[in-house]
Amino acid sequence: MTARMSAPALINARTQLAQLGSPGPDLAKAIDERGTRVVFSAYISGGFTLNVINTIFIDPSLQNPKLADFLVCTLGHECSHVQQGYLVDSVQQELIAYQTEARIAAALNYADGRQSFDKFLALDPTVARDLDVALEYILEMARGSPPTQTIYQSLPKFQPTGIADNAWAAVKQLSAAGIAGIQSLRKSGA
Ligand SMILES: [Zn+2]
Repeated sequence: MTARMSAPALINARTQLAQLGSPGPDLAKAIDERGTRVVFSAYISGGFTLNVINTIFIDPSLQNPKLADFLVCTLGHECSHVQQGYLVDSVQQELIAYQTEARIAAALNYADGRQSFDKFLALDPTVARDLDVALEYILEMARGSPPTQTIYQSLPKFQPTGIADNAWAAVKQLSAAGIAGIQSLRKSGA
């Protein structure tokens, strides 16, 4: 199986990921094995993954050729969510995704990306205090977008697993801050 995408910029980004140093190839493989759908959506700021419907949404402004490296980093971050495979998001899951993004930025020699994401590499996703720091970094990055901040603030610190990681919890998590928040992102142009 291969990841399902039709936009040329996304196809290029996936190809680049597959050809990069580690962890690029494993990330491309994660979405290929599951046949994940990857689409541009004007409702999204940055990127967003919903494993419950096996879909990655990417901000269409990242089609700008000047943002090609950032698109590869963003796709890598979202592939990490697919690779981790949970239905419900958590600060722990986001920290792992941002660490992955830092490694992709390093593999690309993308200085701006490293400046944004390298700080996550010093944190340990199994340590509660480090997850608090990770959330501070994430909220700081989302400071221009209160709806995004609300979504992150609603996340459980540690990853729910087993019966706690279910589709209903995922829907509840989404609606908590929700689709409305994502739509207002669009209006605010964040
Ligand atoms: Zn994420």
